[in-house]
Amino acid sequence: MPALILSLLMLGVLLILSSRRRLKVLGIPAGRLISLDTSRLIPVSEPLYDPDLRLTGRPDYLVQRGRSRIPVEVKSGRAPQRPHRSHVLQLAAYCHLVETTTGKRPAYGILKYADSAYKLQYTHALQKDLLQTLGTLRKAQNLSPDRSHNSPGRCRACGYLSSCDQSLV
Ligand code: SF4
Repeated sequence: MPALILSLLMLGVLLILSSRRRLKVLGIPAGRLISLDTSRLIPVSEPLYDPDLRLTGRPDYLVQRGRSRIPVEVKSGRAPQRPHRSHVLQLAAYCHLVETTTGKRPAYGILKYADSAYKLQYTHALQKDLLQTLGTLRKAQNLSPDRSHNSPGRCRACGYLSSCDQSLV
């Protein structure tokens, strides 16, 4: 059974939850606009993995803040009035993965849009929301998709190769 792939998670999130009103009701943090020194961003080459949740994903960047690493997710469009729920949960997943892999909980994550960046606190409420959403998705989709191809080349080029148990290579 392959690891739960973050892109699949985000697809599910987009399908299940999308309205801004619902976002407000659920208490998703609106975030705070910040300026971001892009020269201090560290690109992430390997996916991060949580074996307990079978969750894997790779933020675009990490930035060192004191002893913590802060995940940065880059979106190509202009910043919305408040971050979309799917973006917030994606960032929360990266915060979770950073905590799992480094042992240090990031206090926040950053959503970087083309024209500005949001700083979003990684609160315990947001973490709980993430875990509940993952649970909902697992139940709703019985998330154990089988490999849909027989192409070793695709697996060789896949960013999830290191954590996939259906790889052909
Ligand atoms: S492309 Fe291959 S390695 Fe990547 S998720 Fe699919 S089966 Fe796993």
